[in-house]
Amino acid sequence: MKESWTRRRFILRAGVAVASVQTFQNLDPCCVYAADAQTAPEELFELKPVADGVYAAIAAARYKVNCNAAVILTDDGVVVVDSHSKPSAAHALYKHIQTITRQPIRTIVNTHFHWDHWQGNQAYAERFPDVEIIASQRTLENLTRPDAGNGGIPHVEKQLTTVAQEIEQLRAELAAAHDPSRRARLRSNLTQAEDYLEELRGFRPALPTRTVADKLTLQHGGRNIDLMVLGRAHTDGDLFIHLPKEKVVVTGDAVIDWMPYLNDGYPEDWVRTLDALEGFDFAHIIPGHGEVAPRGHLGFFRSYIADLVAAVRLAIAEAASLDEMKNTLPDRLASKYEAAMSKYPLGQYRERIGSNIEVVYRKLIAA
Ligand SMILES: [Zn+2]
Ligand SMILES: [Zn+2]
Repeated sequence: MKESWTRRRFILRAGVAVASVQTFQNLDPCCVYAADAQTAPEELFELKPVADGVYAAIAAARYKVNCNAAVILTDDGVVVVDSHSKPSAAHALYKHIQTITRQPIRTIVNTHFHWDHWQGNQAYAERFPDVEIIASQRTLENLTRPDAGNGGIPHVEKQLTTVAQEIEQLRAELAAAHDPSRRARLRSNLTQAEDYLEELRGFRPALPTRTVADKLTLQHGGRNIDLMVLGRAHTDGDLFIHLPKEKVVVTGDAVIDWMPYLNDGYPEDWVRTLDALEGFDFAHIIPGHGEVAPRGHLGFFRSYIADLVAAVRLAIAEAASLDEMKNTLPDRLASKYEAAMSKYPLGQYRERIGSNIEVVYRKLIAA
């Protein structure tokens, strides 16, 4: 059994000043459900074959969202891309993986630093002491920076406060709710939030052990897996995974199947980075959230970011206020994007378009 680390000792070891961690008042717009949204009662993943020996682990909706994973089998161990929001979720996926192979997990890749893509790392690190955890150089830096955004060690500290607040809010909503089905959903989400807080308190984060500056090709068991930094997009450290022979890309949240979260992103660079991705040969996209998508989804998703930036830029040039933009732009973009961006209970068009407009506005003004 490994030494049992407390969070605080880990943070001190990681060189992050506890005093610099700010309190966090608002719920994460990225990943918190409306409190009565329908969520699965347990950590569930569906393993879908995408190419020979390559699977997408599609995450069921949970109160604390899980990202998808890519599971790549090789003769030399399994490569898993992204590890979800909690060790219990990574454990659940690992059980699924054992139904398709007896090979050990050799490599974990984290596509970016957001909490819902790396917080499960420890589940693999504890089970496989030699596991290699790979991320971009910038993602490793973001995981320990206090001001990086919606993920990393300091963000774990913040969540101890914010999740406790969410639990209070859920209790109050439950006390005030009368509709039986809403009460059932609130009760399920309250249990999930309480379990998550308990998990957070015992958290022993496992950071990347190897980084990619530009490009790295893993040659595991006869398979070539390219890990590529293509530019800033959803974060400033996004890693794209390309399997040239199998014609698959794994994108993290740089391409997803619902409305993007832009707060830690670079919308103008994002379009250029996805242009660069377009230059690679692939047929299937395993996105950070939502279902496996065909190549054509990349163009659709990129055009949403491009159209959003163009619309906000034009509105700024016409001296529109932010409130005016939030009143007019959602309807203007809806015919092209609303239906396709509202397929899941989370991250729907109308729920996020206002904050997307505001983030782009603030970033353009700041620039
Ligand atoms: Zn995500
Ligand atoms: Zn993300």
